[in-house]
Amino acid sequence: MVDSRSEPAWAWPDLHDAQRAVLLEVLINGSASRAELARRTGLSRTSLTRLARDLVELGFLAEGETNAPNGRGRPSEILNLEPSAAQFAGVKLTGEALYAVVTDLQANVIELEEQSLVSRYAPDAVSQIAEIVRGFSASHPRLASVGVCLAGDVEQVRGRSVIVGSHFLGWDNVPLESLVEAETGLPIAMSNDVQALTAAHHWFGAGVGRRSLVLFGLGAGIGAGIVVNDELVRGSHGHPGKVGHIPVRHIGPTCDRGHVGCASAYVTIPAILHNAADTSFERVLERAAAGDRAAQSALDDAGYALGVVVAQLMNVIDPEKVIVTGEGLAVARAGKAAMDIALAEQLDPAFERSEIDVHDFSFADYAWAAAVSAIRRVV
Ligand SMILES: [Zn+2]
Repeated sequence: MVDSRSEPAWAWPDLHDAQRAVLLEVLINGSASRAELARRTGLSRTSLTRLARDLVELGFLAEGETNAPNGRGRPSEILNLEPSAAQFAGVKLTGEALYAVVTDLQANVIELEEQSLVSRYAPDAVSQIAEIVRGFSASHPRLASVGVCLAGDVEQVRGRSVIVGSHFLGWDNVPLESLVEAETGLPIAMSNDVQALTAAHHWFGAGVGRRSLVLFGLGAGIGAGIVVNDELVRGSHGHPGKVGHIPVRHIGPTCDRGHVGCASAYVTIPAILHNAADTSFERVLERAAAGDRAAQSALDDAGYALGVVVAQLMNVIDPEKVIVTGEGLAVARAGKAAMDIALAEQLDPAFERSEIDVHDFSFADYAWAAAVSAIRRVV
């Protein structure tokens, strides 16, 4: 039996700010020569040479012969990230299941595991997360940190992340960061799942290179993540992007908070099932594809509501790109005509429309996003 509180054999080193800045630059913006890195970070060539040597010695960077991605620079001077320098665990909790991944330093998934959630009782969930992390640590000795994300509100209380509310898990005020850290001995990053996914796409996914971005996560609920000026918007209370109750129509179905015709009354999977009188989202999609009017009508209403929400945020944020993803993303395809009508009605006419990317999704994406939050926690 492994002592769950034993110190890990390897720990992420305590980098100082300048070392971190250089590592982050290569991590996010790719391989570069020392001269290019000095220019991009605003550091002197002398400092950069010393910092690069530190990072090579620590194993995070390696001298490479390959050219920079843009094809410029002298090949002999290129510094590359060493993705195998550290590994990161990411866990997504739902009310029923737990999805877990291990990634390398470049956020490439190298292991994936899916388990049924043993119970929604928080100490049981913590034990299950810790057991998975111990397994990952055994096969990946340079596991540096752990990210956990879920649908719910995460707040900082005295410098620690607390789940102040998660409807799907039935949790109130669960100090998950402290609990998982005590069990694993590793630094923990806790996030709302849509916020984590937005940050992950910004650094490593569909939002790379965009300084502003809005991501919509569709599923049991609808939430938005916002990046402005290359920074994830965190809000003053830790939970921005509450778009679920934006009014769509003055008559129609009612959401769980009693609003008539708000976005949640149409666009969430439970709302679509209610409005289509079905119990399976897949079957609603199949029925609509086969010409069932009630099913198509529920998807059109959902698409229209999605279009309203997307248009409102585009009008406010003016992002370079919009990403629509999550297990309910089929709404943006099966209800696309209605979504386009809402966009045409509600987008500001002066607005040059941002790219809308309906992005394929699996639940492992949220676990990947949690692993990216673990990378962001230490780098
Ligand atoms: Zn509502």
